[in-house]
Amino acid sequence: MTLRYSVLASGSTGNAIYIASEQSKILVDAGLTGKQLEQLFAQIGEKPDDLDAILVTHEHSDHVKGLGVLARRYEIPVYANQKTWGELDKLCGKIDVEQKFHYEREQIIQIGDIEVESYGVSHDAVEPMAFCFHHQGKKLSVSTDMGYVSEKIKGTLQESDVIIFESNHDIEMVRMCHYPWNIKRRILSDVGHLSNEASGEALADIICDRTKKIYLAHLSKDNNMRELARMTVQQILEQKGFEIGRELTLHDTFPDTPTKLVAV
Ligand SMILES: [Zn+2]
Ligand SMILES: [Zn+2]
Repeated sequence: MTLRYSVLASGSTGNAIYIASEQSKILVDAGLTGKQLEQLFAQIGEKPDDLDAILVTHEHSDHVKGLGVLARRYEIPVYANQKTWGELDKLCGKIDVEQKFHYEREQIIQIGDIEVESYGVSHDAVEPMAFCFHHQGKKLSVSTDMGYVSEKIKGTLQESDVIIFESNHDIEMVRMCHYPWNIKRRILSDVGHLSNEASGEALADIICDRTKKIYLAHLSKDNNMRELARMTVQQILEQKGFEIGRELTLHDTFPDTPTKLVAV
C-alpha cells in the first residue's frame, strides 16, 4: 500500500500532519493540545499510540503545543535538530532521553519503510526545517512556515506527487489589519510567512507532470480567507499555463477539522 496522509489541523492556531504507510506512522508537528490531537486522530479513525515518530519542524507553539503530552503519554520517539531541542527542552517539559532523536537539516533518515528527507527553511525560529516523504516511488512534500522559497527549496520539492504548501496571508489584509507594525513587518519579512501570491508564484516553479494535489496550508486566521487563498493561487497557476481541476487539484486545509485520510 502506498502512503496515506491527512492534514489533521493547519493554521496559526495549530499544526499537525499525519503520514502513514502500512508499516510506519508519522506525525509532523503536534501544535494543538494533547486532547485536541487525540480527537483529530479519532476523526480519521487512527490512534496516536500507534505513532512511530513525531517530527518537529520548529519550536513555535502552533507546532509543539501538545508535543510533550503526546510524547510522554504514548512513549513516541521525537525527532528534531539539535538547536530546536535546545528550545523544546524549555517548552515541552521532560521527554525521556531514549525518546529524543537528533535529526538535522539536509539529512535523509528511514522511519520503517518511509524515507524522510529534511531541508532548511527561512523562518524566525532557531533552525526551522521541513520534510519530503518517499515511499514506493511516491513523494509527498510538506512546506510551511517560510518567509520565502529559495531556488534550492524549489529543487528539493520537485517531482512531488502531493505538496502541502503554505499560503499564509493576503498582503493587503496584513497591511490593513490591526496588528502592530512590528508584527506586520515580521509576517511580511523573509523569515515570516508566505503570502498567497508568493505561494502561487513558487508553486508554479515547483509543480511538474507528476504533481496531482496541492493542499494550501497554514492560513492566517486574521489575514486570509480560504476562498481568497485558493482563488489567488489558482489564478497565478492558470496564468502560468496550468490547468486546475482535472489532473491537478487544489485543496483546502482547516484549523480544526482533518482533511480526508487518502492515499498519495
Ligand atoms: Zn512558525
Ligand atoms: Zn506555524
